[in-house]
Amino acid sequence: MYDVIIVGAGVTGCAIARELSRYKLNTCVLEKCNDVGMGTSKANSAIVHAGEDPIPGTLKAKLNVKGNAMYEELSKELDFNFKRNGSFVLCFDEKDMGNLIKLKEQGEKNGVPNMKILNRQQALEMEPNLSEFVVAALYLPTGGITCPFEVTVAFAENAYTNGVEFKLNTEVKNITKLKDRYLLETNNGELECKMVINAAGLFADDLNNMVSKNKIKITPRKGEYCLFDKVVGNLATRTLFQLPTALGKGVLVTPTVDGNLLIGPDAEDIEDKNDLTTKQEALDYILDRAKISVNEVPRGQIITSFCGLRARGNTGDFIIGEAEDAENFINAAAIESPGLSSAPAIGEMVGKIVVDKLSPEKNENFNPVRKGIKKFANLSNEERKKLIKENPSYGKIICRCETVTEAEIVDAIRRPLGARDLDGIKRRVRAGAGRCQAGFCTSRVVDILCRELDKIPNEITKFGSESNLLIGGKNKENI
Ligand SMILES: Cc1cc2nc3c(=O)[nH]c(=O)nc-3n(C[C@H](O)[C@H](O)[C@H](O)COP(=O)(O)OP(=O)(O)OC[C@H]3O[C@@H](n4cnc5c(N)ncnc54)[C@H](O)[C@@H]3O)c2cc1C
Repeated sequence: MYDVIIVGAGVTGCAIARELSRYKLNTCVLEKCNDVGMGTSKANSAIVHAGEDPIPGTLKAKLNVKGNAMYEELSKELDFNFKRNGSFVLCFDEKDMGNLIKLKEQGEKNGVPNMKILNRQQALEMEPNLSEFVVAALYLPTGGITCPFEVTVAFAENAYTNGVEFKLNTEVKNITKLKDRYLLETNNGELECKMVINAAGLFADDLNNMVSKNKIKITPRKGEYCLFDKVVGNLATRTLFQLPTALGKGVLVTPTVDGNLLIGPDAEDIEDKNDLTTKQEALDYILDRAKISVNEVPRGQIITSFCGLRARGNTGDFIIGEAEDAENFINAAAIESPGLSSAPAIGEMVGKIVVDKLSPEKNENFNPVRKGIKKFANLSNEERKKLIKENPSYGKIICRCETVTEAEIVDAIRRPLGARDLDGIKRRVRAGAGRCQAGFCTSRVVDILCRELDKIPNEITKFGSESNLLIGGKNKENI
């Protein structure tokens, strides 16, 4: 029997897993997908929000500001990409200045440091591509950008190396509360544990509602994006928000931490929790809205579009804590935005709940440090030469757009909880994330996956389950 089972290996579940690995607990993470970070954690704006937007006193407000402050240190410990690039909230009408000032006051209540209201001239000096419509901006120097895949993988790898077990491709179908434990029925058999942590994202309502009479409802709120080539990555150096409306923070224009430009999202409540389609009208809408913020929207440089689904709960806030009528069933549910920003603080908060209830001993062997994959593209020529000498496969470029080498791809596969499919490689090392969107490197990455995993091309998938890249042809026996 496990002490703790965490359901869901998104950024929330993985942050909690890493926190629990500080203790002598028999912890297991169950994830229905082929990899960690395959839910909402893979499709969002990737902003580490300063924390001015949530209503003061809410969990969102507290955990956002706390999480934001933790990111810098954490990015060093876990070796992921994070940049405190700062953000602007743009005001387009003198009549709205009152709302901009109110937002600053709200930020102050939430504990956001060093905010400043800039006039048009001051804002333009910092961001020369602002549109003619901008009259003022709230400057938030603590805003940041990160890579949500890297953050999630980093939490997971560190949790794993500190003793947490991960069972991928394992979907929880039912949970039953027994006298002193929980029974989880999965597609891979039954498991028992003393405590369940529900970090199942969009599906956290289903899990909660299996054991508690206090029903939760999660509505998917879709947000669509356009991602642009790196040649226009410096259109903005800070994240440019528009003054928030009832539907959210509006359309943002931001550099990504890897140097692309990102524009989006819109906000549409939908029914289907698996609907990840993008629509031309939604993309047109975000591109039109972005024109209010910046003087140019370079449509010709769009390299892909995608969408993410926010797990919007029925309380308006994160739902974190023990279900009132189900002892030892802990929710980390309704983690919509700013969930990525808050993840380190959510991990800490849930960790404390578990420690208070189970009183585990400390794990003396806990090592907070995780080393990421060396990024050849970011190294100097001297460093590159040295690496190639040590390992010649650093000299073999597989993805030309992003300058990703064979050695990095092999590392992504061989490391703990390593990549098992094409998208897993893309999320870890960016092979296929560049301008040609994997047109050039797919077959070469498939070859490496086959060699490393002892598979044939027909068996390689894009993202697990039935997403095979090739069908028909030879099978393993007669190849
Ligand atoms: C459009 C959009 C923009 C956003 N922008 C930002 C932003 O800029 N900054 C920010 O801070 N936040 C942002 N967010 C919010 C942020 O992305 C989420 O809060 C965060 O990713 C939630 O992580 P999670 O781990 O709770 O959920 P998920 O990442 O969805 O993880 C849940 C996991 O549970 C698994 N699962 C579900 N059911 C089961 C089951 N029965 N058995 C086993 N596994 C199961 C799923 O497969 C999934 O992997 C945004 C979200 C969206 C949609």
